[in-house]
Amino acid sequence: MNIGPENSVLVVGLGDRSGLAAANFLAAKGCRVLVSDIKTREELADTISRLDSGVEVFAGDQEPALLDRGVDLIVLSPGVPAGVPLIVEACRRGVPVIAEIELAYRFLRGRIVAITGTDGKSTTTSLVGRLLRALGFRALVGGNIGIPLVSLVDESSDDTVSVIELSSFQLETIESFRPHVAAFLNIGADHLDRYESMDDYFQAKLRIAMNQTPDDCFVYNMDDPVLAAGIGGVSARRLGFSMTNTDAAAFMEKDTVFVREAGAVKGVLHPSRMGIIGAHNVQNSMAALLMVVALVRMAGGEPDYPLLAEACYSFEGLAHRMERIGSFEGRRFINDSKATTVGAVEMAIKSLPGGVILILGGRTKGDDYTRLLPTVKERVKHLVLIGESSGEFARIFAEIPASMAGDMDEALIRAMGASVEGDVILLSPACASYDMFRNFEERGEAFRESFDRLVSGRISWT
Ligand code: ADP
Repeated sequence: MNIGPENSVLVVGLGDRSGLAAANFLAAKGCRVLVSDIKTREELADTISRLDSGVEVFAGDQEPALLDRGVDLIVLSPGVPAGVPLIVEACRRGVPVIAEIELAYRFLRGRIVAITGTDGKSTTTSLVGRLLRALGFRALVGGNIGIPLVSLVDESSDDTVSVIELSSFQLETIESFRPHVAAFLNIGADHLDRYESMDDYFQAKLRIAMNQTPDDCFVYNMDDPVLAAGIGGVSARRLGFSMTNTDAAAFMEKDTVFVREAGAVKGVLHPSRMGIIGAHNVQNSMAALLMVVALVRMAGGEPDYPLLAEACYSFEGLAHRMERIGSFEGRRFINDSKATTVGAVEMAIKSLPGGVILILGGRTKGDDYTRLLPTVKERVKHLVLIGESSGEFARIFAEIPASMAGDMDEALIRAMGASVEGDVILLSPACASYDMFRNFEERGEAFRESFDRLVSGRISWT
């Protein structure tokens, strides 16, 4: 389907990023654009002020009757579940429903790399962008990482590589999206408040490969049992990475990451020299290396491994992911506010030496948090519980010394009181932030600000 002035497109879910960008993109293409959002006009005021003036806004309205206005295409924002009555009715009437990613894909030029998984998407996406640039590629980075893909379309050209982070929600409504190189990093429990089962969640993510052909590449984590068992239907050339299996296309042996490629095995990377820590980041680096090497080959080039290694070593990681905030009275403070899954918190704890004081809690996402118990029991000296999950977590982690905190200042005061010199104070909450903060960034900033207050003596822990 071509998209142009003859179309009336309804964008469902305005949000402040992808819905807004999609609406303005479509307006610029000459389409008639309607927007529906369940929020009120007042709540949406700021976003509406950034909309093209020709866009018709239906605030507080997600009724199926909107379809009577001649809508011939729907762009569905990732935050809106496909089961809402408006979308169900659109499907019944045969109105196509696509993601902003799919919309952008139809206009995007150049090569495409796409990354999904439960944890590590943003880190790996940024690293791939960085590695490609180190090799001289023109890399554009976007998608779920916070830059709507449609906003990259105008910059894309036949010699760009778009590196796209994709969530399961975005993948639900792709149609023809076909990445030249896809990566599936891992699969753990997440968003079980939106999916009926783990398999539904897995299948949504696996759509990343559904249009790939044997000319494309699919990079995946061989150590993840669900992934290793579930990718039988993938047509692309499969490149596995593993921490243990030396038959993998990228693997770890002793202190070195090896890449097996073009009939040779090369020692490429020493993880001890990397700026980002933990086994999970070794996995992310292996995935990134395989993706970049595949792209270099597609472009007819020869991978420059020393350059790739240097670019990995100098990558400091992203804010709010195992971010070092500083030290105070012998305690190191780490901000891992983005850790909203059990898997991410396990990785965080395991990647730190010494005693850990863990600040945990927030809005739960339907996961089984008892899975955290073994790691917490083994490594965490004291828990500081924050947010609306406090009661539930106090029961689950009853065997671990714990205290409760009403805000971040109090959390740091309790953590200081429960720690000794040499310990790490880690914010890695395993939950969404929306009960106390606008988003994970705000939660991470609150942690940093409380740390600053502690250091400057504006709050006292003794
Ligand atoms: P995502 O975009 O998938 O949420 P991020 O790169 O933003 O991933 O990292 C989110 C959290 O997951 C952080 O706490 C980070 O330390 C952790 N993490 C990163 N990579 C992995 C991985 N491969 N496995 C488990 N946890 C990871």
